[in-house]
Amino acid sequence: MAGLDIGIAGCGIAGLSAALLLHRQGHRVTLYDRFEEPRPLGAGLMIQPTGLAVLDRLGLARRVAAAGAPIARLHGRNAQGRVVLDARYADMRQAGVFGLGIHRASLFGALHEAVCAEGIAICTEAEVAGTELDGAGRRFRLADGTHSPVHELIVDASGLHSALAAPCGKWLGYGALWTTLHWPEDGPFDATVLEQRYRAARQMIGVLPVGQGRLCLFWSLRADRYDAWQEAGLAAWKDEACRLWPACEGLLGQIADPGQLTFARYAHRLLPQPLGERIVHIGDAWHSASPQLGQGANMALLDAWALAQGLAQPGPLERRLGHAIALRRGHVRLYQWLTALFTPLYQSDAALPAIFRDRILAPVSRIPPADRIQGLLVGGLAGSPLDRLGLAMPDYAGLADDQCASTVAVPLR
Ligand SMILES: Cc1cc2nc3c(=O)[nH]c(=O)nc-3n(C[C@H](O)[C@H](O)[C@H](O)COP(=O)(O)OP(=O)(O)OC[C@H]3O[C@@H](n4cnc5c(N)ncnc54)[C@H](O)[C@@H]3O)c2cc1C
Repeated sequence: MAGLDIGIAGCGIAGLSAALLLHRQGHRVTLYDRFEEPRPLGAGLMIQPTGLAVLDRLGLARRVAAAGAPIARLHGRNAQGRVVLDARYADMRQAGVFGLGIHRASLFGALHEAVCAEGIAICTEAEVAGTELDGAGRRFRLADGTHSPVHELIVDASGLHSALAAPCGKWLGYGALWTTLHWPEDGPFDATVLEQRYRAARQMIGVLPVGQGRLCLFWSLRADRYDAWQEAGLAAWKDEACRLWPACEGLLGQIADPGQLTFARYAHRLLPQPLGERIVHIGDAWHSASPQLGQGANMALLDAWALAQGLAQPGPLERRLGHAIALRRGHVRLYQWLTALFTPLYQSDAALPAIFRDRILAPVSRIPPADRIQGLLVGGLAGSPLDRLGLAMPDYAGLADDQCASTVAVPLR
């Protein structure tokens, strides 16, 4: 089957992984990104077994695992000290499984280097504003008024703010402030746990180990309170954060300027039809959700894998793309629904969701088989997405060995 000429909008996780997979299938791939130099935005991520399975097939799992921190457990307490979240990867009852806390720059670096090493073209400073059909293909309309060459297929991997996808979904009231800090040696934190503290569902502070001597700290904040947070000043916020989780006092000492914290907003959106004539939307451009279940980057990797699987099929392009979307649609819908269900338990002003979380959900989730269901859900494995895509669980034993060898601290970014 002759390779296609493919233009991909977006050098994020979906775009870079799709570029690698499609290039290796023999297609001619060009990536477009608005950045002067491709770079990641944001702080920490959790790579679940689903995402790691794709990275494994890309030959990048060992490198990515060595750059991150194996996470055994997600653990949270409320302001009264009661355990309100306890999800353990071991509850999946599969040997050696862990989540991987990683800095976004480390994941991006691994994918971007592989793309460059394979000679895949990247057009930078190319802000995509739209697309137009042209003969037997489609081309990008760029924000500077120029056009790209015509491609036989356009892949929209330009994320949540895609200019190529029809508006849909809604912004969530809550987002979070994020920052990357040095891991405190002999500090009170466990390097294998994503730990959080909650005041009802109104306040949340969390620490995610991301490896290489770093962690990401996050603080839940309503978007309409961001200006007030800035006006109140750093000292007022630090007092509030320490009241909720006194152990963070030392960590907060690393923050001297509000500019060290980035506010991220989340949107729940799902394009009902991610396919058009010679265009397909993947990753956050197709669907996005709050990161409560830590799935977005993993979903992006699965979408890229499915796209490659679909294009490997015989038949007309539309049918091959339809096959790719069909491979993912059920899992995407399931996690959209689950995330919409769970997000108010962790970020909302209402009292009842937090009471339900603390008194019913948390204790019940520790009783078999609910513990296993919770583990599978956190791992992105609900709905068995790997089987459908012909993917296997990564070799966690080998990855853990590599991880032990990687303890080098790197500077904060
Ligand atoms: C605070 C926060 C925490 C998160 N935590 C997790 C987590 O723990 N686990 C997890 O799996 N997911 C998490 N996510 C979600 C995850 O980051 C996204 O789902 C993932 O990055 C989506 O990848 P993507 O490639 O589709 O989009 P992106 O990573 O957003 O990449 C989009 C790319 O497109 C480029 N672009 C955008 N617009 C244009 C344009 N007009 N023209 C040209 N280029 C353009 C951008 O520059 C960027 O390079 C989190 C998200 C946030 C905000």
